[in-house]
Amino acid sequence: MILTVAILADQLLADHPAIAYAQSIMPADQIRIMLVESQARITLRQYQRHKLILVISAMRHYAAMLQQRGFAVDYYQTPRWRTALQQQADRYPDTQIITMAGSEYAARQAQQQWQDWVSSPVTVLANQQFLVSQHNPLAHTATSKRTVMEPFYRAMRQHFGVLIEADGTPTGGQWNFDSANRKKLPATRPLPNYPHFPPDTITQQVSREVADMPHARGDSADFDLAVDHAGAQAALDDFIQHRLPWFGDYEDAMSQRHHQLFHAVLSPYLNLGLLTPLQCVRAAEQAYRQGLAPLNAVEGFVRQIIGWREYMYVQYWRHMPALQTQNHWQATRELPSWFWQGQSGMHCLDTTIARVWRYGYTHHIERLMLISNFCMLTGIDPVAVNHWFLAGYIDAYDWVMWPNVSGMGLNADGGIIATKPYIASATYINKMSDYCGGCRYNPTVRHGADACPFNFLYWNFLLTHEQTLRANPRMGPAVLGLRYLADDERDSIRQQATIWLTQM
Ligand SMILES: Cc1cc2nc3c(=O)[nH]c(=O)nc-3n(C[C@H](O)[C@H](O)[C@H](O)COP(=O)(O)OP(=O)(O)OC[C@H]3O[C@@H](n4cnc5c(N)ncnc54)[C@H](O)[C@@H]3O)c2cc1C
Ligand code: SF4
Repeated sequence: MILTVAILADQLLADHPAIAYAQSIMPADQIRIMLVESQARITLRQYQRHKLILVISAMRHYAAMLQQRGFAVDYYQTPRWRTALQQQADRYPDTQIITMAGSEYAARQAQQQWQDWVSSPVTVLANQQFLVSQHNPLAHTATSKRTVMEPFYRAMRQHFGVLIEADGTPTGGQWNFDSANRKKLPATRPLPNYPHFPPDTITQQVSREVADMPHARGDSADFDLAVDHAGAQAALDDFIQHRLPWFGDYEDAMSQRHHQLFHAVLSPYLNLGLLTPLQCVRAAEQAYRQGLAPLNAVEGFVRQIIGWREYMYVQYWRHMPALQTQNHWQATRELPSWFWQGQSGMHCLDTTIARVWRYGYTHHIERLMLISNFCMLTGIDPVAVNHWFLAGYIDAYDWVMWPNVSGMGLNADGGIIATKPYIASATYINKMSDYCGGCRYNPTVRHGADACPFNFLYWNFLLTHEQTLRANPRMGPAVLGLRYLADDERDSIRQQATIWLTQM
């Protein structure tokens, strides 16, 4: 009898639970590992080429690593998963198939059908890729109940003993150092050197294949991401040493000088299984204990990984599939074509969108306070926004996209995931970035020929949704600003926003 361990593309874990399970019940020479490059998945969207290179090259490196460890690997390049499973079952008629449940809704739906596709017995093990598979603070909370991230995060820290003292109190005497983490990047602040991982022969081959894929977008030329566990570990080490100490300070800063600033750029590796969440937070905590990074930075980073990341994963599973269709603000406008190609004339957005198609990466605040903010203010259909993010970003997967884009970014769920809409005018963008200096628009005026569109769109949004926003305690102060707008100014804002939106 043969045991086939079928591994999904985003489950490239160094210690894969399904392989460990197989080894516990079957001798090594009767275990086969199966990986699939599914054409249907590769061509599902107009993916950014770096994303395709990353995933395909990481899979091929993973297969090579397993072979080096002595495993027999069946690597398929088939039109779809179904074809590969059927070929595997034909080759090994006495095989049983085991797999770990996918992180994404569609993957799990498909895994439920595997048994109908092949006569071999199929076992789906629980997903263990996230820390919440060991401890989920929301496990007993009804999905109808509104939750917030903070208590979840504290419970995670306590359970996993991250930045917790022997007496159970948070290190430094407080849970949250966010108030120390809102600095603009000074123009003279030197930037660190960023890590580069020159493509090896496997990645070069994948790059050539991806360059020839007509449906894909962006250039494959600059690809320099890590594609295996050793590379991902080196990326983590580089972050801990060169950027973590200032991660907190400049977490919210945006700059035309560089797309990464002091961010980690670890999500592509975490989401593929090349790094684990605990590996990242333990490394950051160790840097703090050794006096190499301050607490505001380390706590800020830990909050992102075992707070926001795990919380979003839990929220995804609490609210799927409803998340896919929610549209609280009844946003139906099409995404402007310049999101895919071209220019809007808005310097902040054009720079950020160009980075997406060049690197497949922009940091969190640019995703939230530039792109999502713009989409929310202009009422763009959440499905279209999700689709764009999923295609453009190297770290994009269904489980992380819906709660972040529809929940946090667009408030399309009506505030289930994030308690307030993240909207802002140019005042915020100007305060936190150096974009406005190089822009043809003026960030300080609300309307008029030179006015920044973020301004009249923001005020128009407040005017349009005044009653709904007033009911939200966290948005109350923003709406209060409306009382300073005279009637003629309100009219001018509405008029300019209407014309601009029509022409957008
Ligand atoms: C509209 C929008 C879209 C997003 N799309 C994605 C996406 O496709 N894939 C993705 O992994 N993250 C996404 N995020 C979350 C966050 O922006 C990215 O995880 C982060 O920018 C990745 O870059 P980094 O590794 O440099 O992160 P850092 O800022 O250095 O943060 C460290 C880590 O924290 C985790 N993290 C922080 N915030 C979140 C969050 N809200 N959700 C999940 N993980 C988080 C990530 O794993 C990240 O690597 C999105 C956020 C928004 C608002
Ligand atoms: S003026 Fe407005 S459009 Fe221009 S960079 Fe600033 S916020 Fe962006």
